[in-house]
Amino acid sequence: MPTVVVPDRLTSHVAAGHPWLYADAVPAISGAHTGALVTLLGQGRRPIGQALFDADSPIALRVLTTRRGEQAGPELWRRRVEEAAALRRGTLDLRSTDAFRLLHGEGDRLPGVVVDHYAGFLVLKLDTPAWLPHLDDLRDTLMEVVRPRGIFFKGISGEREAAAPRTLAGDEPPEHIAVREHGMRLLVDVRRGQKTGLFLDQRENRAVVRQVGRGRRVLNLFSYTGGFSLAAALGGATHVTSVDLAKGAVEGARQNFIANDLDPAAHGFVAADAFDHLAACAASKQQFDLVIVDPPSFAPRKQALRAAEAAYTKLNAAAIRLVVPGGLVACASCSSHVPMDMFLKILRESARVARRALRVLEIRQEPADHPTPLHFPEGRYLKFVLAVAE
Ligand code: SAH
Repeated sequence: MPTVVVPDRLTSHVAAGHPWLYADAVPAISGAHTGALVTLLGQGRRPIGQALFDADSPIALRVLTTRRGEQAGPELWRRRVEEAAALRRGTLDLRSTDAFRLLHGEGDRLPGVVVDHYAGFLVLKLDTPAWLPHLDDLRDTLMEVVRPRGIFFKGISGEREAAAPRTLAGDEPPEHIAVREHGMRLLVDVRRGQKTGLFLDQRENRAVVRQVGRGRRVLNLFSYTGGFSLAAALGGATHVTSVDLAKGAVEGARQNFIANDLDPAAHGFVAADAFDHLAACAASKQQFDLVIVDPPSFAPRKQALRAAEAAYTKLNAAAIRLVVPGGLVACASCSSHVPMDMFLKILRESARVARRALRVLEIRQEPADHPTPLHFPEGRYLKFVLAVAE
């Protein structure tokens, strides 16, 4: 097994559970190819763990184990999957939802591997091609441990390397998998959908929206396939407008209303830019009792942070302005470069620009099926704030 000496200043981070070593922080690893398992050496060339090597990523090494005697390989993958499945069984109410994240990469100590469970089907997505040489082993492990109806491979985030989406084992998933989430029925298109098909990280936040939806006129911006819209409507909202740039997503939202016996004609479905739609609502003096704002990440890279802050502020200020006095806003951000403190600062600035006072009702982060190591703050990405706009 190739080896790499971890600089002294980083060994304690690795030992504490930080799962990444950056290429510019470690010496070059000679003779190793992407996907190689590498032994990490600490002071005095003592082994301190094992990692997965990616020759082309800024994240050169993803730490697989720091336990003495533990070997990276199929047996370890199997143990990790068993532990992840047991954690879900022990922390989620699997009677009320059959859509959840089974493996959350770094948080389940299989860094770079994401597996979502949709009513018996698994959808696997990788953050790095370094897992490709181990894909068959992962597939076999998942089949044996989880016994799903099938496993669909969604490819590699960022698509640096061609890896065709395909069924890896078992049955082909149907065009739409119908899943249950806290009393809602959601249709999931794992092939054409974004991410693995659904934004499962917002599951518990959708339940919050359902709880506060009664009697409200709702605007849901960046609605994707209408998860929040449906939650609001099933919670008793009188009218819900769903806005997303992607036509297919808006049509998906309409289909989801039908799948829940809601008349789509009684609600609004708009394929448009959310900023444009906000401007149009302001121009026509429309107001809402609840506005939901869940945009894609405006800061995919750290360098984009300044521009992202300005965009988040503009967006949330415009949304807050559309809320009736005493109405609600639900503001979310999924950028890992915007930590919670910064997001709250952005919302304070948004409220100032909108000349409204916000009172916070709930501040939420990722749910239990999206664990993050405490020593890996970069892994915390989701912010969800529910507030009253005075
Ligand atoms: N709230 C959703 C997830 C939203 S993901 C849920 O719970 O399922 C972000 C969505 O924003 C995507 O569906 C994407 O198509 C959409 N989007 C991206 N840019 C947009 C824009 N400028 N205007 C409107 N929608 C946009």
